[in-house]
Amino acid sequence: MLQITINGKPVTAREGATILEASVEDHYAREQYDIAVMSLQYLKGVQEKDESGLCIAEIPGIGLVNAAETIVTEGMEILTKSPEVIERQKQVLKDILDHHDRDCRNCSRTGNCELQDIQYSLRMTKNPVTDPIETVPLRADSIIVRDDNKCVRCGRCVAVCENLQGIGAIKMEGDGMTARIVPSKGISLIESGCVGCGQCITVCPVGALHERDDVAAVTEALKDPEKYVVIQAAPSVRASISEAFGYPVGSGTKGKLAAALRALGFDRVFDTVFSADLTIMEEANELVERIQNGGSLPMFTSCCPGWINYIETFYGEMLDHVSSCKSPQQMFGAMVKTFLAEKEGIPAEKIVVVSAMPCTAKKRELGRDHQNAAGVPDVDFSLTNRELARMIEQAGISFPGLEDEEFDAPLGIGSGAGTIFGATGGVMEAALRTANDWLNGEAQEAIDFTEVRGISGVKEASYKVGDLELRVAAVSGLKNAAELLNKIKAGEVQYDFVEFMACPGGCVNGGGQPQQKASVRMIKDLRTERALSLYRIDQADRLRKSHENPEIIELYNCFLERPGSEKAHAYLHTQYQAKGE
Ligand code: SF4
Ligand code: SF4
Ligand code: SF4
Repeated sequence: MLQITINGKPVTAREGATILEASVEDHYAREQYDIAVMSLQYLKGVQEKDESGLCIAEIPGIGLVNAAETIVTEGMEILTKSPEVIERQKQVLKDILDHHDRDCRNCSRTGNCELQDIQYSLRMTKNPVTDPIETVPLRADSIIVRDDNKCVRCGRCVAVCENLQGIGAIKMEGDGMTARIVPSKGISLIESGCVGCGQCITVCPVGALHERDDVAAVTEALKDPEKYVVIQAAPSVRASISEAFGYPVGSGTKGKLAAALRALGFDRVFDTVFSADLTIMEEANELVERIQNGGSLPMFTSCCPGWINYIETFYGEMLDHVSSCKSPQQMFGAMVKTFLAEKEGIPAEKIVVVSAMPCTAKKRELGRDHQNAAGVPDVDFSLTNRELARMIEQAGISFPGLEDEEFDAPLGIGSGAGTIFGATGGVMEAALRTANDWLNGEAQEAIDFTEVRGISGVKEASYKVGDLELRVAAVSGLKNAAELLNKIKAGEVQYDFVEFMACPGGCVNGGGQPQQKASVRMIKDLRTERALSLYRIDQADRLRKSHENPEIIELYNCFLERPGSEKAHAYLHTQYQAKGE
């Protein structure tokens, strides 16, 4: 470690750290002193540079330097708030604000905006510009909405799509502050290969990218006395919704989530963990059938719609490997509009199924073919975690003040296995817990398949399951997915079962999750912290295997008959179509 000073204060820095990194990595110095370097472009692991002119510092005797490029050395004296630094940053900020729609009051990012932080820091909140900018219409394309009036041309969205997802669906067109984010091919994002993962939205420092807003439509449904409105909440929503209310990253709040949903007025408050367990029943059964009957192997998971969009678009020739199971979101909707409708005597047409998801791709999933078990759409609205937090806030509900509540039965009981679906490797581990018991013919001690845990983009393991040696892999992030698919096609690797998640780290890092600023992402790994909160819930749960969920057992006994039955196939399975066919 090196000893340096920033603004005259002692700071301990990692060898090889840049000035920008050193200004935030020393926990004590960061908390005690005002030393942080500002940045709008830099994002750890995505775009580790900043050429905006904001990310600067002064080294006495040398002058102004780029803080994202300059490596600290022993004894270095650094100034991040000198008059020269501030003067230069104010010039850059003025140029940005001259081209930025400053209607912050009506922006979804207000209060959580990296540009606002810089304005406050430079004391430029008193509107230094007199003329409003000439605004251009929003461009809503698929489920992604682009607002050029707010774009600060930081390039993070382009970098995440290209570098992390390996898709390159968007590009920056034009120069300087009039450049725009546009599809890189064709005229729409879908033509350009966008899979709707929403990773671009989560890294945007301002409100220039957001998902289609379905809050008003859900609010209308809640007010309609003719409608029976139920909601399901995905596993990783409980891992992170609290962040929108100021809790630290990784604070799981399952009980408050259930209470908030009830306070919003939903007729029933259910848990997608239930249908995650149901997915495991169908998926594990399909895997065993494929192995025993010579079906296409490796079998690929199907619970991530971003991944499904990806394989349909780029690897259509491999679709026979994909499990035919609907995603947990859609299985849940199918069971509400068939099983629950029948049990409670409510016509499916009267039921509105809403989802609270960590995901933007799930909004697109609602419109897919073969997702209407009861002859009407399985799910009507899919809200992101951000939209749900906004609904709670707009309803005047104090999230921290809520007492813990339980989800409703019967579709609200889930196992620890279903809970860990939210983390990369979680679906695989949940499936292994069930397959291991089934193939051995009795409950097994082994429950923690830790080799498939963690944030590595590709994890491989081999397990003895019954008489089989099961070779598995868990992949997250679409660039990693492409690399593995190419190896499978070339016969370089052999597996029986592979889990794919579009978002790096899985749903805990999904495109619909609360946005965390670059300064937080520099010191916290969102994927790890949020995943740990799910594993803690799993560890504390007495019910840790999907097939032991009593409500799932009851559902098969009284309605679906058995996993893979004709009825289960009709309601819980789907089909895929290579794009362009
Ligand atoms: S949603 Fe995903 S695929 Fe589409 S532009 Fe954004 S990052 Fe790229
Ligand atoms: S849309 Fe957002 S992430 Fe993309 S360049 Fe503009 S401000 Fe940056
Ligand atoms: S990994 Fe999760 S959040 Fe991301 S696209 Fe897939 S289902 Fe959605």
